Amino acid sequence: MIRERLKEIKSKLPEEVQLVAVSKTKPNELLLEAYEVGQRLFGENKVQELVAKWETLPKDIEWHMIGHLQSNKVKYIAPFVNLIHGVDSFKLLKEINKQAKKNERTQKVLLQFHIAQEESKFGFDMEDVQDLLTSDDFLTFENIEIVGVMGMATFTSNTEQIQDEFRTLHNYFQVLKSHYFKFQPTFEVISMGMSGDYEIAIEEGSNMVRIGSSIFGERNL
Ligand SMILES: *Cc1c(COP(=O)(O)O)cnc(C)c1O
Repeated sequence: MIRERLKEIKSKLPEEVQLVAVSKTKPNELLLEAYEVGQRLFGENKVQELVAKWETLPKDIEWHMIGHLQSNKVKYIAPFVNLIHGVDSFKLLKEINKQAKKNERTQKVLLQFHIAQEESKFGFDMEDVQDLLTSDDFLTFENIEIVGVMGMATFTSNTEQIQDEFRTLHNYFQVLKSHYFKFQPTFEVISMGMSGDYEIAIEEGSNMVRIGSSIFGERNL
């Protein structure tokens, strides 16, 4: 079942689009089904669950933290997490840098932008990010590598609105790329699109989609 769904989704993704299989709330058996057909990139949104899965599943899995991350929990994932998608505050970035340094790692992160209409979704606006990137403190964050942007569209059936929001994120990416990351080729990730809207996201330039329920089935929690 998972095998077929994964195959079908992959057949729709252009080659340059990476698939993060969002396995939150799902048991290890289901992740292993995806693993057995070659999936190596998994996304989780809770620190405790992420750590537990990392400890028990094969070590060649790349783990992405996709949810809202509290500063006091960074230390638990800092030894192994490959990419943190939801960086949405200066305080969090500072803590990630500190923990990455302790672990002698360079931590890859994405800056999360607030593009949806819902208040409840986290993220920076462009002004916050420009302040951040031009601050003196930022220059001292030697163990952080910002590799792109992430965002979530409004949960709506209005596809034009979703399209607009993804387009906005793509624009933000381009502005940052040309102003701050021109000489950093690794600044290249646009993480947008989930089960319900990834096709629109790809049309708008996404190169990393985060898909859960369409692979693993609906979640009860
Ligand atoms: C749960 C989640 C997803 C995946 O959602 P689906 O609708 O199940 O594909 C993607 N991104 C984030 C940040 C999530 O929390």
